[in-house]
Amino acid sequence: MALQFYNTLTRSIEPFVPLDPSANRVGMYCCGPTVYDFGHIGNFRTFVFSDLIRRYLEFCGVSVNHVMNVTDVEDKIISRVREKQISLRDYVSQYENAFLEDLKTLGCLQPHSLPRATEHIPEIIKLIEQLVARGIAYRAPDGSVYFSIEKYQGCGCRYGQLVNLNFDQMRPGERVASDEYSKESIADFALWKARVPGDGSVFWSSPWGEGRPGWHIECSAMSMRYLGPSFDIHLGGEDLAFPHHEDEIAQSEGSGLQPAGQRFVKYWLHGAHLLVEGKKMSKTLGNFFTLRDLLQMGFSGREVRRLLLTSHYRETFNFTRDGLEESRAALGRLDECILKLQESAGKTQAEPDPGLLTQFTQAMDEDLNVSGAWGVIFEWVRETNKLLASGQITAAKAAAGLAAWSRIDSVFGLGFKAEAEAPPEIQQLLEERLAARKAKDFKRADALRDELKVKGWVIEDTPKGARLKRV
Ligand code: AMP
Ligand code: ZN
Repeated sequence: MALQFYNTLTRSIEPFVPLDPSANRVGMYCCGPTVYDFGHIGNFRTFVFSDLIRRYLEFCGVSVNHVMNVTDVEDKIISRVREKQISLRDYVSQYENAFLEDLKTLGCLQPHSLPRATEHIPEIIKLIEQLVARGIAYRAPDGSVYFSIEKYQGCGCRYGQLVNLNFDQMRPGERVASDEYSKESIADFALWKARVPGDGSVFWSSPWGEGRPGWHIECSAMSMRYLGPSFDIHLGGEDLAFPHHEDEIAQSEGSGLQPAGQRFVKYWLHGAHLLVEGKKMSKTLGNFFTLRDLLQMGFSGREVRRLLLTSHYRETFNFTRDGLEESRAALGRLDECILKLQESAGKTQAEPDPGLLTQFTQAMDEDLNVSGAWGVIFEWVRETNKLLASGQITAAKAAAGLAAWSRIDSVFGLGFKAEAEAPPEIQQLLEERLAARKAKDFKRADALRDELKVKGWVIEDTPKGARLKRV
């Protein structure tokens, strides 16, 4: 395998060598959603990125154990549960289900395990106990348990492996209770948060009293529970590098569970953020989109996925409506070429075209250079179209091209649509026309046909019924 990744831990591009090269098995953990609302398109950039890594490793012949946690207890969730006066499980399950549906809409493979924090409280408590026993964690007077950065560093461990930190401004023993804090406020962070009246019925018993886990400890406990104390790849959006991932390293390596000389995680990969129309997404700017908003606007999950797959994961990506339109057009070109190849290949089968696959692999091996990979694919589409137009393609060549595309698509996960997909409002007009014809209102039926034409769609009446085609 010639695959290389940029490892945030070493700040360099490194060859990917699994922890256990002989087993050909890789453990991969991606920080999952906090299920307090519908996922936005920025979140899904990160999840499509993790799906791409999994799929590419599988393409390279590696078996991947993909774990993604579901954060179903956390500060924001508790405040919503309090506002709505419903149970924690009732509140989060609607968003957890929506998230899984959205992953499917985007063509993401479901992770092999999707552990929920609330179902791993014993594992979390056990890990905190281990840290307390090693003298790295301590109980504060209110019954919360904190991680002592000073004690951790005193054991020869380093806090600040993923990001550079300025310890001069740190005041030993100072504490931060919130799960989210900036580099300027590094301090002892909460592992267990003592119950307060605002938590309502959200609490568990522990050796330190009633309370609930902090966010960071949940990922240490669940990743090690499913993948072992030392595993290959850990992913997330760039905002998670500090404090979330830094704290995960501290908790996991502070527990001393790793075999001598091994790290908690070998490769840390972070996806850059997504902007919408050039700006950070925000509800007040009107550029905040959930996946569901984009579907409502008439775009398909496939079109959104393809757009998310056009930019390198370490580059900030500007998501725009124009980009979605371009994505639709690019998929249309690809689908048309595949359809013609299918017609030329007929029933002929062939091995994948090695040239196309080699070029694709070379691009992807370079830290997932998707732009390079798309360049290779669209060059192939251009060449193929030329051959098709001049009638020079043989059934065997067409079949070899199709077989190569099918391998490539096991990575991109876009599938194939024989016909352009009509957005819901266009489908609606088609249905209205059918109803008008049924009612023998031919004037209205013709008017609807004209309206569709103005919008770029023609109706083909086939023996199987009416079909929409792009003009
Ligand atoms: P959350 O549900 O907020 O914990 O976020 C889930 C994932 O989405 C995390 O990996 C975040 O880093 C990622 N994320 C949040 N906002 C964005 C964004 N604008 N662009 C890309 N990824 C994001
Ligand atoms: Zn996490």
